[in-house]
Amino acid sequence: MRAAVVNAFGGGFDIEDIDIADPLGREVLVDVKASGLCHSDLHFAQNDFGMAPPMVLGHEVSGVVAAIGPDVTEFAVGDHVVGSLVQFCGACDECLSGRTVRCLRPEATLRAAGEPPRLSRRGEPVLAAMGTAGFAERALIHENQLVRIDPAVPFPEASVLGCGTITGAGAAIHAAGVTAGDTVAVIGLGGVGLNVVSGARLVGAARIIGIDLNDEKLELARAFGATDWVNAGEGDVVARVRELTGGGVDHAFEVIGRRQTVEQAIAMLRVGGTASLIGIHPAGGTFEVDANTLLREQKKVNGVYMGSSNIKRDIPFYASLFLQGRLDLSDLIASEIALDDINSAYAALHSGKTARTVITRF
Ligand code: NAD
Ligand code: ZN
Ligand code: ZN
Repeated sequence: MRAAVVNAFGGGFDIEDIDIADPLGREVLVDVKASGLCHSDLHFAQNDFGMAPPMVLGHEVSGVVAAIGPDVTEFAVGDHVVGSLVQFCGACDECLSGRTVRCLRPEATLRAAGEPPRLSRRGEPVLAAMGTAGFAERALIHENQLVRIDPAVPFPEASVLGCGTITGAGAAIHAAGVTAGDTVAVIGLGGVGLNVVSGARLVGAARIIGIDLNDEKLELARAFGATDWVNAGEGDVVARVRELTGGGVDHAFEVIGRRQTVEQAIAMLRVGGTASLIGIHPAGGTFEVDANTLLREQKKVNGVYMGSSNIKRDIPFYASLFLQGRLDLSDLIASEIALDDINSAYAALHSGKTARTVITRF
């Protein structure tokens, strides 16, 4: 099958023919219909985050079940599904408490050492990264990392549910716990940040300030529910947010992964506010915070992973909100492309000009 293979960090994606195994145990073979270009995959393709080439990335996957392993109970051939990089065992203390995103045995959804690899090239293993490996015609995914959804949700919109939406909306609703009447700032309005705006709107935030360097993104944020917007390239962002809110926001979300914008997020909080950090930093990235200001002003810094989501509960929930017309997913989709165009599409994402680009031709 055709797949976008990363052969070296920083070397881009090579479109190649590789082999995919038949499903074992609880694995599901998915005929991939849409695969979103999250910024995280660009980080993983350029830097060593513990996943080594040759590898197939891609973790915003939607498609149709083509075959199931002998122990699969939850899915049948023909089901429409969404995949997620959240790996969970279903049996540890965290999973049993419903916090599957904190699973203590996430490797349970991968093949064990000694089993044949899911992906290979001329007999050599190719890493099926994150257990999803969605930048390919087909994907072999453990049933815990899959969710069945209503076939009425189009595949491109469904793919974004797998990361951008659960991460962004989940950050506001679950990880930060924004509540009705809160003031919110979102720094970085890409595929994830726009979903933070949606989450804040859903729970009734009073003000939602969108912050980005691109005016097109600020305009888009308005459609998603931002009530105010600030171009970060024009003047002092922190001073502007403080001025708009009369002293700072209850919640600031950093959705880029830069030291400067993390420090801005903490600085723009009002007393007692929470800065939620979503953006991924280069390995070893750090930031500074004045310790006495933090304690005197009772600020909280909140590390957010996948919006603290429970994918089996949250993906169908967001899908139903979309079908009811209460959650915009369609305006996230900037364009649908062919697998062959993945390198140029990632170059455009890097420039900050597009929200989500989705591969729909393989
Ligand atoms: P994206 O590239 O689509 O969006 C980033 C946005 O930030 C762009 O709109 C860009 O214009 C804007 N931006 C860049 N520099 C800025 C600045 N100085 N001030 C204001 N705006 C600026 O990326 P995305 O796919 O939305 O992902 C966002 C981040 O979230 C990435 O780092 C990604 O890896 C990370 N992520 C984290 C998790 C998690 O679980 N924590 C999950 C998914 C994605
Ligand atoms: Zn992602
Ligand atoms: Zn577990």
